[in-house]
Amino acid sequence: MFTKILIANRGEIACRVAATARHMGIQTVAVYSEADALAKHVAVCDEAVLLGPAPAKESYLRADKIIEAALATGAQAIHPGYGFLSENEEFAEACAKAGLVFIGPPASAIHAMGSKSEAKALMEKASVPLVPGYHGENQDAELLQNQADAIGYPVLLKASAGGGGKGMRVVEHSAQFKAALESCKREAINSFGDDRVLVEKYLTRPRHIEIQVFADTHGNCIYLFERDCSVQRRHQKVLEEAPAPGMTPERRAAMGEAAVAAAKAVGYVGAGTVEFIANQDGSFYFMEMNTRLQVEHPVTEMITGQDLVEWQLRVAAGEPLPLSQAQLQLSGHALEARIYAESPENNFLPSIGTLQHLRTPAAVSFELGGTAAMPAGVRIDSGVRPGDAISPFYDPMIAKLIVWGRDRAEALARMSDALAHYQVVGLNTNVAFLKRLVESAPFAGADLDTGLIERHRDALFPPPAAAGVVELALATVALLSSEASDAAASSDPWALQTGWRMNLALQRSFDFGDLDNTVSIAASYRPNGWLLNHAGGDFPVELITREKNDYTIRIAGKLVTGTVVIEGESVHVFTPGRHITLSYADPLAHAGQGEEEGGRLTAPMPGKIVAILVKKDDQVEKGAPLLIMEAMKMEHTISAPREGTVEELLYAVGDQVQEGAQLLAFAG
Ligand code: ADP
Ligand code: ADP
Ligand code: MG
Repeated sequence: MFTKILIANRGEIACRVAATARHMGIQTVAVYSEADALAKHVAVCDEAVLLGPAPAKESYLRADKIIEAALATGAQAIHPGYGFLSENEEFAEACAKAGLVFIGPPASAIHAMGSKSEAKALMEKASVPLVPGYHGENQDAELLQNQADAIGYPVLLKASAGGGGKGMRVVEHSAQFKAALESCKREAINSFGDDRVLVEKYLTRPRHIEIQVFADTHGNCIYLFERDCSVQRRHQKVLEEAPAPGMTPERRAAMGEAAVAAAKAVGYVGAGTVEFIANQDGSFYFMEMNTRLQVEHPVTEMITGQDLVEWQLRVAAGEPLPLSQAQLQLSGHALEARIYAESPENNFLPSIGTLQHLRTPAAVSFELGGTAAMPAGVRIDSGVRPGDAISPFYDPMIAKLIVWGRDRAEALARMSDALAHYQVVGLNTNVAFLKRLVESAPFAGADLDTGLIERHRDALFPPPAAAGVVELALATVALLSSEASDAAASSDPWALQTGWRMNLALQRSFDFGDLDNTVSIAASYRPNGWLLNHAGGDFPVELITREKNDYTIRIAGKLVTGTVVIEGESVHVFTPGRHITLSYADPLAHAGQGEEEGGRLTAPMPGKIVAILVKKDDQVEKGAPLLIMEAMKMEHTISAPREGTVEELLYAVGDQVQEGAQLLAFAG
């Protein structure tokens, strides 16, 4: 076995690999960018090497520097995690040339599966079922359109080199084909440096079911059952589970054997995932193979009781697979929710910022000791700590929340309870959305397909509910209590002995901004608390205990507990399962601001201009697309806020722009 490995990644996966290595007594070397000098993955490894500036191209994608770091530190092997260099055959080859073990499949297998088109051609030969489509070399636009016409709409255009849900376009009609092809090719060249595409029949109401495979260098290849990853947004997984609801032993064996055949066809070694798209009737087709560890591998660890990173390390060191197919057992049910920094209400747009406050539910975080093979009801794989930033440079995933239950119902209940206790302040997250999702009738009833979120949009995005009196009382008590402790912390000799009670005035009033309204609370001092008046009702309130941000109050005779975080002009109130944000400043003082932003002529986040669709002096209609920028791995279209004229273009294609930068001058 190795004595030292280098982990060529960041975030939760780097921390997760480090945990297993530590458990096995293997030293770890982290690599990091300038933006990550204080990151958790650097702290949990034994040594760390700086690669370069924040952009991945100058750091985590610098194969040469990573290999140099491995050699300089005496690491014998490199674990690539996922993303970055994990599916890069040149990197795998360069490792071998430098005498380092690449913890992954042979370069030839990465190559064979690297292009979705070539992989499909290979799978066809190995008799693995394929979605009807065109995956040929000829990329002539006419020919592609004719192929799409022949397949029949809707079709799906995919970047052959694609990944991470990027470079895909659904085309509903022949008339939309050309525009979709152009946009698909643009995204493909920008993201993958390769604009080849393939065309597939777009299945309606499909499920995404994938098989975890594992092969060693002794000719063994087995499958570790399936994962259902049907719940997606933007073709990216949001919730994953194992086993797949409704799976029969016969179909599991059929899919498992097809996956093993796919892996064997390319001489696979190590951990890999064969992704299938399945119809509701159970028929399934090969989609692609991911030649690496998958983000959602923990659900497989939970139902098999195996540590897949440990398996990877053993296989890479030349050992045989720890178990045979017959020895593997499936136990219980596991779910994973990806906690993303994003705004579900705003089309899942990534959100950047600092984790001002981060509180997670009680969970096993085995990087502190232990292994993924240990049983755990709730597990969190996270690469961040409170105070860390989610930057525009990397993936906006904050953490993964994984639960296990004896059956799906128990796993669901644990997930929903864990999400109810996940608190984040400082950026938007999908936590509340995930909770609604796991509790929704279609998910709870396992009525799964990749369109679930879109189809149940109304139920999943209810109008926000106004703050209740308990939340307003918590906010008021927190403000009063913070004022008192601020005063106590100052050197004012009077304030020092006062505490919460001797609070400044006997009568106070608070105006909170809640949704679009202003809510007024009048508070009058009473010997052991306050009498709050809200909407004509009186509520006696006492502070029972306060521990930092956690408050227990008695309101109208009832004890309630909540967490209140005051951040600038915002007051965040968390009660189990609910997070409301009140503004504590006169909302009218800010009226009128943000109208310009409503027109989105400013960059919503730092990024790159990828297309300019208008010229100076063009007259455009309201809503006309003006330019497209790419930020956080997504394209954002900037549209005309109203009818008007493009007065001046301020940037060119390829330019980097800062958040808030004006993109063009527009008069309307
Ligand atoms: P999985 O298929 O393992 O569930 P995804 O397809 O969502 O995972 O991608 C895994 C991770 O790798 C994500 O963080 C994603 O952003 C990142 N990723 C995927 N493809 C690429 C790529 N080509 N370049 C950089 N990062 C990528
Ligand atoms: P990526 O490399 O980005 O992961 P995949 O080929 O694995 O790309 O597809 C990602 C997702 O897109 C799938 O999980 C599925 O939701 C959807 N998808 C892919 N192919 C099809 C198809 N032919 N019909 C319907 N949906 C599809
Ligand atoms: Mg995929």
